[in-house]
Amino acid sequence: MFVTAAVVGVLLICRSLASSSSSSPSTPSTASPIDTPHGDHHGALGEADGAVPDGVTVFDDEIPAVANLDPDLLGALRQAATGAADDDVKFYVNSGWRSPEYQNQLLREAVSKYGSEEEAARWVATADTSPHVSGVAVDIGPSDATAWLSGHGAEYGLCQIYRNEPWHYELRPQAIDRGCPPLYADPTHDPRMQQ
Ligand SMILES: [Zn+2]
Repeated sequence: MFVTAAVVGVLLICRSLASSSSSSPSTPSTASPIDTPHGDHHGALGEADGAVPDGVTVFDDEIPAVANLDPDLLGALRQAATGAADDDVKFYVNSGWRSPEYQNQLLREAVSKYGSEEEAARWVATADTSPHVSGVAVDIGPSDATAWLSGHGAEYGLCQIYRNEPWHYELRPQAIDRGCPPLYADPTHDPRMQQ
């Protein structure tokens, strides 16, 4: 274990942190850089902790990452997905609800990848503030789905929150009338992360 106690409480916001530079526009399913939560770690964290197999949609109730999402968020996602289907766009869930244990595992991978807690913090939050752990955030793909949400998500109260995470959506019901709030450049600018 190379992760110190001080780091353990810091949790990853988005798993899609590794390859933001290379997007594959027509990938039919999930193109997630960190998709092997059962890799070289003890404990074999799996679907029960929020790991998402390929091809999961917002309608897959049997997947804990979907089933444990906030009901209002999930309802909005399903309405939006139905609307998107009319445009031949299909939403896939790259990540949704996650257990704290799964977040910690993603954190270890992030710190290892970025080489410092400071740089990883652009993509991480504390255990108390992680919107994925609390079930109020979802990472959607592929790119045609996020493009559709960018244009239509506000109609369903679904908003991008961070400029550096175009796949990360949360429910902002007031967006239906007023549009989505301004983006934060990255999670370090989010007041919810200041703990
Ligand atoms: Zn996210």
